[in-house]
Amino acid sequence: MSTLRFKLLETACQHKAVVLEKEEKRPSEFFGEHVFNRTAMAKYLSKRTYNAIIDAIDNGTPLGREYADGVATGMKQWAMEQGATHYTHWFQPLTGGTAEKHDGFIEFEKGAVIEEFSGKILIQQEPDASSFPSGGIRNTFEARGYSAWDPSSPAFVVGDTLCIPTVFISYTGEALDYKTPLLKAISAMSAAAVKVCHLFDERVTKVFSYLGWEQEYFLVDESLYAARPDLVLTGRTLMGHDSAKNQQLEDHYFGSIPTRVLAFMSDLERECLKLGIPVKTRHNEVAPNQFEVAPIFEETNLANDHNLLLMSIMKKVARRHSFRVLLHEKPFKGINGSGKHNNWSMGTDTGVNLLSPGKNGVENLQFVTFLVNVLAAVYKHNDLLKASICSATNAHRLGANEAPPAIVSVFLGKQVSEVLDKLEAATTEEAITMDPKSGLKIGVAHIPEILLDNTDRNRTSPFAFTGNRFEFRAVGSSANCGEAMIVLNTAVAAQLNDFYAEVEGLIAGGTQKEKAIFSVIRKLIKECKAIRFDGNGYSEEWKAEAARRGLDCETSVPVNFDAYLRPNNVEIFTSTRVLSEVELHSRCEVKWETYAKKIQIEARVLGDLAVNHIIPVASRYQSVLLDNIAKFNALFPADEAKTLAEQDMKMVRKVARHITAVMEKVDAMVNARKVANKLVEERAKAIAYHDTVQPLMDEIRYHIDKLELIVDNEMWPLPKYRELLFIR
Ligand code: ADP
Ligand code: MG
Repeated sequence: MSTLRFKLLETACQHKAVVLEKEEKRPSEFFGEHVFNRTAMAKYLSKRTYNAIIDAIDNGTPLGREYADGVATGMKQWAMEQGATHYTHWFQPLTGGTAEKHDGFIEFEKGAVIEEFSGKILIQQEPDASSFPSGGIRNTFEARGYSAWDPSSPAFVVGDTLCIPTVFISYTGEALDYKTPLLKAISAMSAAAVKVCHLFDERVTKVFSYLGWEQEYFLVDESLYAARPDLVLTGRTLMGHDSAKNQQLEDHYFGSIPTRVLAFMSDLERECLKLGIPVKTRHNEVAPNQFEVAPIFEETNLANDHNLLLMSIMKKVARRHSFRVLLHEKPFKGINGSGKHNNWSMGTDTGVNLLSPGKNGVENLQFVTFLVNVLAAVYKHNDLLKASICSATNAHRLGANEAPPAIVSVFLGKQVSEVLDKLEAATTEEAITMDPKSGLKIGVAHIPEILLDNTDRNRTSPFAFTGNRFEFRAVGSSANCGEAMIVLNTAVAAQLNDFYAEVEGLIAGGTQKEKAIFSVIRKLIKECKAIRFDGNGYSEEWKAEAARRGLDCETSVPVNFDAYLRPNNVEIFTSTRVLSEVELHSRCEVKWETYAKKIQIEARVLGDLAVNHIIPVASRYQSVLLDNIAKFNALFPADEAKTLAEQDMKMVRKVARHITAVMEKVDAMVNARKVANKLVEERAKAIAYHDTVQPLMDEIRYHIDKLELIVDNEMWPLPKYRELLFIR
């Protein structure tokens, strides 16, 4: 008897909504309370120090040592008043998630303990980081890694710890994290976009990359979670038969939020707002027990820090509510997985959203210029964009009938598509006319200020234009958005540089400016037509069509990582100085290594569950059936016993077949692992795990799920899908 599962079910049912302490203040009053933001800085820093740090934040001016001590002192005082006793450099290693090593503020001075925190410590640290992945960059003899403060993201206090957002680099200067190349990609994009903006408006001095993420997640009761070793160790269920009811009625999406979940959400929102994360939206998602939280968009680097912070806060808050939060992209087979849509746009320091249609000819030509350059960037590097969202965990969403398909295409919507089609067909004279009274006109295409199909949502498109931004939907729920944002901003930067050079060339040759811009735009519209697709991204026809169009259709995650090393992609990273070739190679090594390790862990857990949890229970059930059959035979005349035992006999055979299959496949899987592990190169190993281990895992699961349907419910040891998904 599986008493444990039933005991845990009982516990789960007793969990009630937590009653939150009443919050006296309004969100506007406690927003950013735990952040060393401009208001706090103004209060705790001298005027000179304040000006220096603001200059560092806004303009990237290095903060001189003479000011660093001042900032550190002010920051420490503020943090201690918040109750902080420790500080940490908070960074984003390639393992995913964030890393922190806490140090106390205490120092010895003349034999006594004092609270100390200097500018030197604030600015740079040397965490013993030899066990973070570096893809071979750091040999053990120079295992040092440095973390250095990123003043553009404010420090904050969580619990008793002051967290200082930092970059993480090797002794020899290579990036070992997401933040370093992200900052570089953002500034490369800004520099390139400013040049292009100057074709329209001389006043622009900076272009911001904006990111608004939408975080999807599942909540599972903690007691049921504890009884699922697969959830605990891999973040997803490696087995589990479909629940009779799941999402078919679509009754969960946008439905009323269950009270226990609502308490969790309110608690989470409060924490987030205090940490300066502008969370705004919350709702139920498509799958049962699936939810979403989204903030107001922010500058990309800050938005990404906030997403990482949110993910770690969610886990803590969930525990106060006896939930566990699942950030895995596909915790449950057969129902929707979780993504993290990245809404992305570019905006000038003069307040113009470059992806928003304007009010007049110049503004619209500028809008079309940026839109078409984004299209071209995505077209030329569609393989790379896909690689940026690939991981062992997101692989379960790729190609399934939910975003994203394993092909990157762009959805523009009817109106914008028509504008581009008209521009493509027009002659320069038709397209660009100078009206003596109202100035420049784009002759052929009127672009409405508010795009009607703003909300025309094609949910099957991995990269959709939504009226004033692009929504990169393929990003996985557990990912660091940094990876996708590094690639996107770099590709757009490189494309804008090319565009600018070409336009300048034409102007130098005597072409009028607007006509030069238009002719390059028209050329790009023609060149990158293949990336535009407004149809159903899940259909079989699209797969064939995309292949004909020459888009990257590879589905294997480890093979997709090759995109990072293709010459045209290496070129954009090196020309913008976002990542060097050495860094690209090392990062790919890390990706392959991580991929293989994740599948290896899953395979081990599955093997253990199969052999030690499932098969013993299935055999026990089998002997119950055999007992029955023996009793029929003992008590009834032979031919009557035969009829009576017929069903049990059938079941015994079925159970035996599945048990045998599981045993055989587990053996085969162990062997496949052995073969894969012998491979020396990380890429080959990852491919072996993908090609030989993963398929066996799917087969093992198939037989276990069949057993779940046959074996007595009371004996089944693992909480079932209906329990994990509907108890809340
Ligand atoms: P959806 O209908 O796709 O769920 P939401 O209204 O929830 O959209 O918003 C999605 C995200 O897009 C939010 O984080 C929002 O702040 C962000 N967003 C809105 N405008 C922009 C923009 N111009 N650039 C980047 N992100 C934006
Ligand atoms: Mg969205």
